[in-house]
Amino acid sequence: MPLYYGYGYGYGAMFDPLYLVVVIVSLVLGLAAQAYINRAYRTWSKVSSDGCSGEDVARRMLEANGCGAVGIRRVNGHLTDHYDPRDNNLYLSSENMLGGSVASVAVACHEAGHAVQRARGFSMFKMRQALVPVVNFTQSVWMIVLLLGIFMNMAGLTTIAIALFAFSVVFQLVTLPVEFDASRRAIAYIQESGMSAQQVEGARKVLTAAALTYVAAALTSILQLLYLLARTQRSQND
Ligand SMILES: [Zn+2]
Repeated sequence: MPLYYGYGYGYGAMFDPLYLVVVIVSLVLGLAAQAYINRAYRTWSKVSSDGCSGEDVARRMLEANGCGAVGIRRVNGHLTDHYDPRDNNLYLSSENMLGGSVASVAVACHEAGHAVQRARGFSMFKMRQALVPVVNFTQSVWMIVLLLGIFMNMAGLTTIAIALFAFSVVFQLVTLPVEFDASRRAIAYIQESGMSAQQVEGARKVLTAAALTYVAAALTSILQLLYLLARTQRSQND
């Protein structure tokens, strides 16, 4: 096949219809997940949590789980909320920290859920944390190794590159149970805290939509890995 140069990732790659499919499917998945969380968040940010801010409820959830030492800080941006295990702080966006909506409480409690995971030594959380430095490394080098493999026409290097890329896929997969579990802890607490069935349902919807963004990211990376493997297979058969 003259279109495919060298080992098969060369200039031909940009004309590969299969690659175009991977890009389009990834894009559609990502945009659909984003649109879904935005819609769920917008809907439930209009429903009051009866005067409690995200910070109030997250603080109570942390204390109820023996995590009173966890700090709560404000972070700029929209849906930038996260838990940082390095300094053991929740970082909440203004709208979720101060906001008194079902959506604010859901997101704030989800982040508190991560702090509880760490305090309880939740195994998937520990595994994910252990993978962070590994994936930081593999993500920054896999493409360089791949390009070296292509230009030096060394099959061994491209195989190593794919193995390095596979760490990102494993990381995305390990992230899923960590995210689901943080949401499960959040919903359990919100339920216990005496909110109405409608408020609990709203919180569940917001957190399910948020989880779908991680599912979309995981599917995208699996798709990319499959593409890389198919590409290698094909060029070996050429
Ligand atoms: Zn999370």
